[in-house]
Order: sequence, then C-alpha cells, then structure tokens
Amino acid sequence: VKQASHNNFAFFTQEMQTHSARHLQLNNAMHFALARGELSLHYQPQFSLQDGHIVGAEALLRWQHPEMGSLSPAEFIPIAEDNGQILAIGEWVLRTAVTQLKHWIDGGMAPMVVAVNLSAVQFRHPNLLTMVTQILDEVGLPPQYLELELTEAMAMDNPMAAIALMNQLHERGIRMAIDDFGTGYSSLSYLKKFNVSKLKIDQSFVRDISDGQDDKAIVTAIINLAASLNLKTIAEGVESASQLAFLRLQGCDEAQGYYFSKPLPVAAFEAFVQAQQPV
Ligand code: C2E
Ligand code: CA
Ligand code: CA
Ligand code: CA
Repeated sequence: VKQASHNNFAFFTQEMQTHSARHLQLNNAMHFALARGELSLHYQPQFSLQDGHIVGAEALLRWQHPEMGSLSPAEFIPIAEDNGQILAIGEWVLRTAVTQLKHWIDGGMAPMVVAVNLSAVQFRHPNLLTMVTQILDEVGLPPQYLELELTEAMAMDNPMAAIALMNQLHERGIRMAIDDFGTGYSSLSYLKKFNVSKLKIDQSFVRDISDGQDDKAIVTAIINLAASLNLKTIAEGVESASQLAFLRLQGCDEAQGYYFSKPLPVAAFEAFVQAQQPV
C-alpha cells in the first residue's frame, strides 16, 4: 500500500511537472510570438439562412511556433490571460481583423461583418472602449462592420459594469454577440438589459440536433427567446445538412460551421468567398 501510494504521488507530481514545463514553455515563447510574426488569424464564414449569402466571418487566432508546431487557442489563451499578454495579443487581433475587413471591402468584396472574440481580461480592462474606437478610426472601418463576441460568464461576472460598457459600445455603433449562449448563467432579466444584437447558440446544442430531442428543444427555445427579445441568432458548429435544415425551419438567422467551411487563412477565405454559391 505504501508503495502504491508512493507511486501515485510520484506519478501525480510528474504530471504536474510536465504540465508546468509546457505551461512555462508556452508562457516564455508567447512573449516573442507577436514580434516574430507567429500569430495569424483564420476566418470562418457565417451565412444568412434567409438568402444563403455570407454575411460575416469570425476571426480565430492561430499560433504557429517553429518547434512546438500549431498551438490551439484553447490552450494558449488562458496562459495569455494569466501573464497579461492577452492585452497586446487581443489588440493585435482586433487591429488585424478590422484592417483585413477594410481591405476586403475596399477591394470590392461584398460587405460583411467581422466577428472578434474578446477575452474576459480585455472586457474588464478600463481601456477597452478607447482601444476599439481608436482602431476603427485609425483603419477607417465603419463600426457596424465589427461584432465583438463575449460570453455570458464575462457579462455576468459584473453585470452592472458589463451593461454600462455594452451601452457605451452600442452608442458607438459597435455590435456585440453573446458567444456560447446557453452554457452560462445569464438570467432573463439581465439578458434584456444586455445591449447585444445576437445570441450565438453554443455548438454543444447544435451537435446533437439530428438525434437528441432534448437539444432540439433547447435550440428551438433559444431561437424563440431571441426572437421575443428582438435578437438575432447564429448557430455555431453546424456540421451537417440535417442540422442546417432544422435550424432553417426553426427560423435561426445565421449559421457557421464545418458543414460550410472550417476557419481559413486569408487567401483561402478569399477564394472561398469568390467561389461561393448561396447555401
Ligand atoms: P469559440 O469562440 O467558441 O470558437 C469556436 C470554435 O469552434 C473554434 O475553435 C472553431 O474553429 C471551432 N469550430 C468552428 N466550426 C466548427 C464545427 O463545425 N465543429 C466543431 N467541432 N468545431 C468548430 P478554435 O479556433 O480552436 O478556438 C477555440 C476557442 O479559442 C474559441 O472558441 C475562443 O474561445 C478562443 N479564441 C479563438 N481566437 C480567439 C481570439 O482571437 N481571442 C480570444 N480572446 N479568444 C479566442
Ligand atoms: Ca467565438
Ligand atoms: Ca462559441
Ligand atoms: Ca467556446
């Protein structure tokens, strides 16, 4: 027994060390990632289910490290939030996405919205409003082309502060969407006060539309709730024709997912848009 528990302990600490070694490695490498040009954005198209056209693109961060290879934002964003780098990285993401969209529109691409994910750390930072409006001014992109994605958890962390910030962003013409909707804890009374224009139905509910009756009911309930609050809905993680058909039938406004396209690097996104027929 002694031996076993000793082994368990040794195994546990080794796990922790492996974890912290990688954590440390990412943490260190991150300080050079921006300057070395290792970060890029991929764009995933978002479709109107009314007319089938591309109406937006979500910018998703990618980090290609020379030795560690391609790193997932799900792994490195929490580290960037801990070490504070998320502020510089988040500002870079916003400037890059806004500049890219301006470039596309100036080049004759049909206008669309670019959706940018915000971190809780950015959302809490007192400079957010100034930072966002400065970038839009600097680039010359009208604010209605930008949509900031924030989660329910971010808004519910300090609802009063969130409501005030959302009102300020809304006043400047910047749109917001609640990401991963349905997985958080926003009460209906707060949801009414959140000055957002869209609910993004979490992919966990979309995934089982084809077989699970429960998730079908949840998706329908979210679409109806949004309609009654005058909010648009977008479904994320759409992977099949049957999911799409169901969403369309229920009156979901927009959809995004591998069924249409995975997130694409700039050139591939441009080619995709050019070749695209209404879905
Ligand atoms: P998210 O905002 O919920 O983004 C959706 C994730 O689902 C993306 O993963 C996307 O590539 C993936 N996805 C899209 N369509 C499908 C589909 O049909 N099926 C499945 N299974 N997955 C799909 P990704 O790019 O790995 O990003 C993961 C998370 O990292 C994001 O979740 C977001 O929370 C965060 N993230 C990504 N870029 C940024 C960023 O620029 N800033 C911040 N703060 N967070 C970011
Ligand atoms: Ca998102
Ligand atoms: Ca999401
Ligand atoms: Ca998510």
